[in-house]
Amino acid sequence: MSARPAALRALPSVDALLREVRAEARLASYPRALVTEGVRAVLDEARTLLDNGGTAPAPAVLVERTAAWLAREETSSLRPVVNASGVVLHTNLGRASLSAAAVAALTAAAAQPCNLELDLESGGRGERDRHVEALLCALTGARAAAVVNNNAAAVLLALNTLADGRQVVISRGELVEIGGAFRIPDVLAKSGAVLREVGTTNRTHLRDYERAIGEHTAVLLKVHPSNYRITGFTAAVELDQLAGLGARHRLVVMEDLGSGALIDLAAYGLPHEPVVAERVRLGADVVTFSADKLLGGPQAGIVVGRAALVARMRDNPLRRALRCDKLTLAALEATLRLYRTSADLAADLPTLHWLTRPLAELEALGAQAAALLQRALGPAFDVRVVDSEAEIGSGAQPTETLASKAVAITHATVSADAIAARFRTSEPPIVGRISQDQFLLDLRCIGDPAELVPRR
Ligand SMILES: *Cc1c(COP(=O)(O)O)cnc(C)c1O
Repeated sequence: MSARPAALRALPSVDALLREVRAEARLASYPRALVTEGVRAVLDEARTLLDNGGTAPAPAVLVERTAAWLAREETSSLRPVVNASGVVLHTNLGRASLSAAAVAALTAAAAQPCNLELDLESGGRGERDRHVEALLCALTGARAAAVVNNNAAAVLLALNTLADGRQVVISRGELVEIGGAFRIPDVLAKSGAVLREVGTTNRTHLRDYERAIGEHTAVLLKVHPSNYRITGFTAAVELDQLAGLGARHRLVVMEDLGSGALIDLAAYGLPHEPVVAERVRLGADVVTFSADKLLGGPQAGIVVGRAALVARMRDNPLRRALRCDKLTLAALEATLRLYRTSADLAADLPTLHWLTRPLAELEALGAQAAALLQRALGPAFDVRVVDSEAEIGSGAQPTETLASKAVAITHATVSADAIAARFRTSEPPIVGRISQDQFLLDLRCIGDPAELVPRR
């Protein structure tokens, strides 16, 4: 205790350090208040160190630490990363990457005013969804469409509009949880609807739905199981059967499709995912899906369906709280236009491009990346191209993987976790995955092999 004041005197005062920092030409442009804050933070840290028996850093070191503190203030927390995880639509990495067309539309909308809610013909007030509604109708065969912040919001808005205070019948096999926060029973409860679960976990029949229908029933709901599959002795009611039952009882049949594809991925050699147009054709009155999953657009939730039902959703005050901004709508419109006009969608839409790359292309990329990495890391690291299994991600086809290639990096004494950390702290961060004690850099979403070489 008695040594403390003397040791603390070894540190410069705030004013003294401030003068030294301000004398550095390279730091002169920072606002004075910010520099003062940095100087205080650096001195606080040094004081804590002294309290714990450390020694006082030299003044030059304190100046450098202040410079580093200031540089951190200028660094975005949200940064681009290299996705070598092998998961094409990775929720933690922001799901779909936008097409060049969508980025251009978004940038233009961001930088200047736009006709978001202005009808340029009449000069009157317009409806923001109109910019994408016709496209969505053309692509899905639905009569109307609305767009909100994400699919969770679309489900919430649809159920609140259609079933507040009334019953929603759903199979026990479809009461899904999609990543911690989104659980169908919880969203249903928040919408004001009353859950009426029918059937069993593995088998639900049409008669189960039929028996549950009563005077309080409003909606028959189907939910895409997304991130799990029930296999073995199973039975589920097909959408067309449920639609028939709904029609007989004048009930709304709604489907939460989750990912939802606008085109048949099987045509590209990928596993079949339900196509929105197909679900509309089979008789769903309302279909909800995400815009940033297989669709390949910005984060948004889309509701398509019967015009009268969508109109009620638009009039719901909740819609105001859940609506999208102009940036999202601009990016979504450009993405949807590609589906209509692109001569080569797999070239123009990054999600589809990553999903459909031939294995030979990944193999060639892997050989180049391995050579670059071996040179950068040195001979102590074992670097080789291996077979890998990539995933679509975001709940599409959880049990099916896409054949892929990866660069595997191992070291006799450095753990896979430590190697992963080194790549993650590169600039930009490189996100791989660990499998069987190997650090893997999957090539499916990598354009240029040089992206995989860690820097700094
Ligand atoms: C992903 C998913 C959601 C949530 O969608 P967000 O766009 O992330 O809000 C809801 N339902 C299903 C079936 C899903 O797969």
